[in-house]
Amino acid sequence: MELYETPHALGDYLDTHFTCSCGKEHYAPLKAVCIGKGALVELPKLAKQMGFHSLFLICDSITYDIAGKACMELLSAANIKAAIQKLAHTGFDEATVGELLIYMPEDCDLVVAVGTGAINDMTRFFSHRTKRPFFTVATAAPMDGFASSIAALNVNNLKTTFDAQTPTAIIGDTDILKNAPYRMIAAGLGDLLGKFTCLCDWKLARLITGEHYCERIVELVERCVQDVLKDAGKAKDRDPAVLGKIMEGLVLTGVAMSLYGNSRPASGCEHHMSHYWEMMFEQAGQKPVPHGTQVGVGTVLVLKLVEALKAADVDFDAARAAARTYDTQAWEAHIRAAYGPAADGVIAMEAKAQKNETQARLIRIDAMEAHWDEIRELLDALPASSEVMELLRSLDSPCLPGQIGVDQAMLKNTLLYGKEVRARYTILQMLWDLDILELLSDQIISDLF
Ligand SMILES: [Zn+2]
Ligand SMILES: [Zn+2]
Repeated sequence: MELYETPHALGDYLDTHFTCSCGKEHYAPLKAVCIGKGALVELPKLAKQMGFHSLFLICDSITYDIAGKACMELLSAANIKAAIQKLAHTGFDEATVGELLIYMPEDCDLVVAVGTGAINDMTRFFSHRTKRPFFTVATAAPMDGFASSIAALNVNNLKTTFDAQTPTAIIGDTDILKNAPYRMIAAGLGDLLGKFTCLCDWKLARLITGEHYCERIVELVERCVQDVLKDAGKAKDRDPAVLGKIMEGLVLTGVAMSLYGNSRPASGCEHHMSHYWEMMFEQAGQKPVPHGTQVGVGTVLVLKLVEALKAADVDFDAARAAARTYDTQAWEAHIRAAYGPAADGVIAMEAKAQKNETQARLIRIDAMEAHWDEIRELLDALPASSEVMELLRSLDSPCLPGQIGVDQAMLKNTLLYGKEVRARYTILQMLWDLDILELLSDQIISDLF
């Protein structure tokens, strides 16, 4: 069928093949999402409906108390065979996989993750490799990766990502979610706030580079995020309805990625900043703050750059002159300084993507000049950085780089070279194309430090 012209409820997008006016076919394999008060009771119902007979639940000692124990009671009351593994090996590495393999009942036909990030990733990987579907019972909603098909685990002490599978069903009981720590709630909200800047990036790319674009998916994500934000202030009171909406928004943006076939609908330069910080903290042997918290801070920074751009003089001829004097070797030297041991990968990617190359940049500058009024309109439609900061502060969440361990030097590298993390067109690349990225970055840094 044809993808809906106006946004529908999340359930209408699941497990259905769509054609679309954008020319792509869209499909999200997730089959069921149950979010709401007391939604845990859906676990036995869905398992029965879908014909599963022997469940294997994966949790740790914390998520066992939060939801694992209750899941087992509900399954037992419904006469469904179930085993639960309270992980003793929580490195989410080879030992964890071994533990699961040893204890999984032989007749298991459905694996269930009870938890968030690492437990979900491990379950996604383990169930995929043992050729069984899986459900997720969320104990918090700190990011939009629920519907993802990629899993990160530690192999040989190195965080490694694997292709895995998306869950068949996602359950989010708001009676459980409302007790999640504030930092997790705030992280989920941070990941959602990033959708404003990421969708703006996509719209800019459509105008400036002619990138493929799906209006219906953009509208779907946009409507959902705006809807969540109307009441987001109530998240600080742990209002279950609002927390349910945040989780639904996070699941929906994950579904949007599935529908589109890559992360374009949910990840722009606010995410590139977060990826850069992850790399830097990993290199320094430090543990970064949660992904969504980083994305929240990244969003504030992008909005500050946009505000600086709106106040700046844009000179297209000066930008053209800068494009003509671009020096690959100087760029490489900067990348080596900013990325350390990760520089080789970045340089290899640019060799393929050629996003900084002069001819293409000149064409983009022409496109920007031709579309400048539309670009201004897109930028004017973004929320103010102060608005986003206020929302994050209401949850005692960091909203500025200094609060998450990013110092002045790292911030400068983030703003100037964070765009090199991926070959995706974003506001950062646009500012670089216009030769004002460094100028605006310096303004922001002097404001912040
Ligand atoms: Zn994210
Ligand atoms: Zn489409």
